[in-house]
Amino acid sequence: MKSYQRMTRLYAPTLKEDPNEAELASHRLLLRAGMIRKTASGVYSYLPLAWRSLMKIEGIVRDEMDGIGAQEMLLPILTPAELWHESGRWDDYGPELMRISDRHEREFCLGPTHEETVTDLVRNELRSYKQLPCTLYQIQTKFRDEMRPRFGLMRGREFIMKDGYSFNESAESLQHTYDDMRGAYARVCERCGLKALPVAADTGQIGGSASVEYMALADAGEAELVWCDCGFAADTEVGTAVIDVMEGPGAELEKIATPCEGSCVALADLLGIDVKATRKSLAIIDGEGRPTLVLIPGDHEMNECKAEHVFGQYRAMTPEELEKAGLVAGFMGPVGLGADVRVMADISLKDSTSWLVGANEAGYHYKGARPGRDFDVDEWVDVASAQEGDVCPECGKPLHGARGIEVSQVFQLGTKYSESMGATFADENGDERPLIMGCYGIGISRTLAAVVEQHNDEHGICWPVAVAPFEVEIVPLDIDDDLVWPAAESVADALASAGVEVVVDDRKERPGVKFNDADLMGFPYQIVFGKRAVSSGACELKDRTTGERIDVSLDEVVSKVRGLVESARA
Ligand code: ATP
Ligand code: MG
Repeated sequence: MKSYQRMTRLYAPTLKEDPNEAELASHRLLLRAGMIRKTASGVYSYLPLAWRSLMKIEGIVRDEMDGIGAQEMLLPILTPAELWHESGRWDDYGPELMRISDRHEREFCLGPTHEETVTDLVRNELRSYKQLPCTLYQIQTKFRDEMRPRFGLMRGREFIMKDGYSFNESAESLQHTYDDMRGAYARVCERCGLKALPVAADTGQIGGSASVEYMALADAGEAELVWCDCGFAADTEVGTAVIDVMEGPGAELEKIATPCEGSCVALADLLGIDVKATRKSLAIIDGEGRPTLVLIPGDHEMNECKAEHVFGQYRAMTPEELEKAGLVAGFMGPVGLGADVRVMADISLKDSTSWLVGANEAGYHYKGARPGRDFDVDEWVDVASAQEGDVCPECGKPLHGARGIEVSQVFQLGTKYSESMGATFADENGDERPLIMGCYGIGISRTLAAVVEQHNDEHGICWPVAVAPFEVEIVPLDIDDDLVWPAAESVADALASAGVEVVVDDRKERPGVKFNDADLMGFPYQIVFGKRAVSSGACELKDRTTGERIDVSLDEVVSKVRGLVESARA
């Protein structure tokens, strides 16, 4: 028979004060509720409460993966360097890869992800189209020597991930698996109680053709997003929104005095115009060493990630380089520049014919500058960050801004690993072709942090039932009372034997201490047993998330709470 957990036996050392190293609510609350402890920078121990939640998240992930026909397995964490040499990533992955050597000085890494290992596994034994498609996954600890481990479980150097890999014979078959995965990923977020948006993601260095990241919405998220009521959502690093560009004043080129600090906002204030009608100029040296002036709408920023796609490893010009290029900081512009400076402009400006730009002379701008007439644009590029207020490319409505935590990502890999590592299969005609792959990751430990980030208030965590460490806390206010304790214990026993996960606060503490801890740990339902209520045959039921309290008779409380919990389980 299942029994309840006594608080006096629970290893969950709570903290009264906020730990000062914790900036994020999730980090602070997971520490304070006695769920995690730091062992080293970016390396955490999961205490019993955290482990219970993690097991539930894993359970939901397994259920969804198995539901689409993926098969669970377990690959080794320790990975021989040779495999990473084959794919080329031993060098490309950089210092994030945790490298070690054994007693024979053979090199290994602690797997940060397992494309190499899984490709090696299947390359000799997944040989025929008859065995395809095949999707394998595992739930395992991963290692990445992050430059800035922070925010507790959000960005660790050791963390738990579900990683899955699909092997398909054709692009259509991959698309099918990929679509199934997207469905499963959306359901994982929903079942864990996460409000998340699927956003088109950067396929960046990994190559491949399509990728979606699932972003849990949270002010503390590292990613900047734009989204629309119509369902469109994008990462500002990737998404090309339609920017509402405004023409500058005048149609003819005219130099005007602009005695102000050299920013678009200051310039717009001075001239009494909208900052949208200005153009921002940035002077960079691109990845190939070429001096380049980049123009974007004055109310936007250049996005580093987008800019790297266009310019490679670029950097800002030094004062000497600016001088050499004939550019004056704060008053830079494309008019009259030498042929050695390339002019690149954001694609959003392509149809604009009157630009307000710096005159390369302190205190002066040109108005009415027209591309093609007064200066040339060498290339139109997509480098401006999408932002709130831009226009939805799908329906034309203004976009909302939000921040998000990347909890998971799906990726169409194609043949990058199968080609470099020689993983081929025989197709129907007996021809050898490289396997077509997809990869799919969910941050299990990051999901836990994201859930807490979305579900908390000033008193503590407000767990969704599906991933709560326990479902119910029973709070007898006076455990020595000969009515209170027996009533509380009998309800605890009945709920536990009905399969509800129950903690009983059996400590000899003041009611205030018990209430505070109950709110801090934040199990979804609290049942409070006070002397007066019990003697009149009742107890109080509190919903942690809504704060709503109701009196329930002792006869009904078990069936009521059981019903609430069972209907809220994922
Ligand atoms: P990020 O951009 O946040 O560094 P990533 O895109 O490099 O993450 P993936 O390789 O896509 O991460 O890994 C799959 C999932 O693993 C991520 O969506 C995230 O939930 C989780 N994850 C990645 N890095 C970490 C980390 N350092 N700590 C905790 N979880 C992580
Ligand atoms: Mg990712």
